[in-house]
Amino acid sequence: MGELYQSAAGASMHSANGGMQPQFQRAVFQTAAVDLRGAPADEGFEVAFAGRSNAGKSSAINAICHQNRLARTSKTPGRTQQLIFFSLDDERRLVDLPGYGYARVSLAIKANWQALMGRYLEQRRCLRGLVVVMDIRHPLTAFDRQMIAWGVAAQRPMLLLLTKADKLGRGAAQSTVAQVRRSVADAGAPIFVQAFSATNRLGLDEAQGHLSQWLELPPLL
Ligand code: GDP
Repeated sequence: MGELYQSAAGASMHSANGGMQPQFQRAVFQTAAVDLRGAPADEGFEVAFAGRSNAGKSSAINAICHQNRLARTSKTPGRTQQLIFFSLDDERRLVDLPGYGYARVSLAIKANWQALMGRYLEQRRCLRGLVVVMDIRHPLTAFDRQMIAWGVAAQRPMLLLLTKADKLGRGAAQSTVAQVRRSVADAGAPIFVQAFSATNRLGLDEAQGHLSQWLELPPLL
């Protein structure tokens, strides 16, 4: 069923073994940083995950890494104004960017978030791709559009992961994917759109395929 949602030619080239990606399973917490100064050296390959709070970002990271508690799911507004780094090996990392979009957080926290995101996307040379996680029932909020605009400005390829697709019927999910694709078609950077579910693993192979390419993981035989 995954091929119906496949968004990019070649995205499944790393999935020859039926979707198991042992490289992702090796992900371990490396460090948390409140600013780029606390980040690991700007070397190697990094893929960052952004998303509105509660969109399903932590669940997506955990599903991709075949782990239950790597990225911590949380309901606390503004709790993690931090960059959380997970390493796959000496040169490859995943980064959990702070969630955004809680109406109740203070202006100071919002301004801090904006500054941190802006700096990260502008300055991080090892960033190879950006995953923007969105609830498929509420895609492309103002915050998401801001993230995408930063990704375009930084000229990074993006994967828009429309998660919780299990909550929609297949037809509705497909039509949302098509709508989101249309609305980002002229954005000026490569943007892939993929229906996803951490619950039933829809789109997992495709998401791993994009990440494998961006991280230059050696193809599986
Ligand atoms: P985060 O704040 O973006 O990291 O979001 P979480 O990963 O903590 O998820 C927020 C809520 O959505 C939790 O209650 C999850 O169990 C739920 N959730 C996340 N992904 C999915 C999914 O693919 N399907 C369904 N049905 N629920 C999900």
